[in-house]
Amino acid sequence: MKTVLDCMESGTQYLEKRGVEDARNNMQWLMASLLGLSRIELYQQFDRPMVEDDLAPLRETLKKRGEGVPLQHLVGTVEFLRREFICDGRGLVPRPETEELAEAVLKREFPRPARVLDMGTGSGVLGLSIAAELGEDCHELVLADLSPEALELAGENAARLELQPTIIRSDLFEGVEGKFELIVANLPYVPETDRDELSKEVGHDPDLALFSGKDGLDAYRRFIPEAAKRLEPNGLLAMEFGIGQSSALSDIAQAAGLTNCELLPDLSGVVRFAYCNTPSTD
Ligand code: GLN
Repeated sequence: MKTVLDCMESGTQYLEKRGVEDARNNMQWLMASLLGLSRIELYQQFDRPMVEDDLAPLRETLKKRGEGVPLQHLVGTVEFLRREFICDGRGLVPRPETEELAEAVLKREFPRPARVLDMGTGSGVLGLSIAAELGEDCHELVLADLSPEALELAGENAARLELQPTIIRSDLFEGVEGKFELIVANLPYVPETDRDELSKEVGHDPDLALFSGKDGLDAYRRFIPEAAKRLEPNGLLAMEFGIGQSSALSDIAQAAGLTNCELLPDLSGVVRFAYCNTPSTD
């Protein structure tokens, strides 16, 4: 009779052989999800026997994970800034860097209460987390995206958090009205030419959420000049971008009249975030 611990060991080896990073951790999430347990409960039940009804779906899930289906798609949820969100192929799997962006935005200055826009929201994690943390300091949250599937997912995530954002299907600002005190964006920024170098997992993210022309900056080139016009005085524009894009991005921001732009690294040292404030009127 196989126990939870036996399956954990053999599953970890299986995933390691298939080149899955952090195989043990993956295995713990998959087993906990499959058995409907928290990870703490899982640790407490290492001796529990695994019945065939549990083993068959576990094999199926392991096979998919070994083939590169993202862990978050298999578990069906993801944690982002201490909250749980639904995660599937309708939106980009939230990255830890984007969590850093959300955290940093909350510590920065912008007029509050704020009208907040998350442009290219995908699953909604960035805008929804910020709005949830701001509470009364967010008087309206607008989530915009070109993808109807992503917006459906963002709507489901909003409902889980009992938030009522304005959800708009829009090609960048085309369908978005008015001005904002805070605009956040994690637009697609992967260069088309990098397509073949991406991991199997990233292949399960929507193309629309990843790629943006030859150098990856097509979306930001269209977005930043309009975003600059849509910020209230003292407003904040916060953006995530990719490796090696910081100087091109800062040129685009300067040309758009955003003179006060700070470029900062993520925890791994890659310059990945831009925080631009519009001047005050007085
Ligand atoms: N950070 C993602 C990646 O490396 C890309 C996300 C994006 O384009 N916004 O795959």
